[in-house]
Amino acid sequence: MTVREELLEIRSRLDGAFDRREREAIILLIFDYVKGWSRVDLIINEGKELSDFTRHEIDFIVDRLLLGEPIQYITGTARFYGMDFKVGPGVLIPRPETEELVDWICDNSEGKSDLHVLDIGTGSGCIAIALARHLSFPDVDALDFSKKAIQQAKTNAETLGAKVKFFEADMYHWLPTPGSYDIIVSNPPYIAPDEKNDMEVRVKDFEPTEALFVEGDDPVKPYRRIEEIASVALRQGGMVYLELNPRFADEVKAFFESKGWNDVEIRVDSYGKKRMLRATTCDR
Ligand code: GLN
Repeated sequence: MTVREELLEIRSRLDGAFDRREREAIILLIFDYVKGWSRVDLIINEGKELSDFTRHEIDFIVDRLLLGEPIQYITGTARFYGMDFKVGPGVLIPRPETEELVDWICDNSEGKSDLHVLDIGTGSGCIAIALARHLSFPDVDALDFSKKAIQQAKTNAETLGAKVKFFEADMYHWLPTPGSYDIIVSNPPYIAPDEKNDMEVRVKDFEPTEALFVEGDDPVKPYRRIEEIASVALRQGGMVYLELNPRFADEVKAFFESKGWNDVEIRVDSYGKKRMLRATTCDR
């Protein structure tokens, strides 16, 4: 079977499970994974025969995709901020919305150097590593309560040549050193339990529950704790940057304002959803 014929077969098998754009993106990831081919290689090689071994490998990947497994867990990598992060079950797959949060921090930090940054709930380490690579001489710390996440984040930092101090800690019990950070960032678990029915199988059945869902039924709970940490740990003029569930964005904003934070601002993501919040320490 030629590559062209195999492509037709994959397309028809994936049809229905993914929209056209996503399907084509997944096909590129599959060929990159099994053959190391780029989009151009795929075109150049279209007339070539594929070995039975490669065809079986691809068939098996498509079987797994059709059962709902995320492509990033199958290939073991996810692209974030122009870098390849190692990811696997138990660690949240970095999302494009989170890149927009990193963009906001980088844009706002231009011209500043030696910033001391803390990432709360770092997961794969994507935010912390992207900031360590893109800010000017930063000092980045990052915590997560999952041992697996911290191990993966450390591996990612080593592979990507980023200097980050990762440590295992539960934000609900961890006590920061007062006045020690310029920026605190977090993408905490923010999905409410009643949203589970509307979620895709590949998220709700494959990604770590503890990285997705708010514990209990108070959707602002993680933000209350982050606010508590930030109000102690930030230096005067320091900023907190948070990823939000658009459903509760106004609630989180009102909460920060009620605590006296300055310039509390919500930003929409590229889908037009209220996805990020920034606030500056209150005058003390
Ligand atoms: N943005 C992720 C999603 O909607 C959720 C990540 C999170 O809970 N922080 O799948």
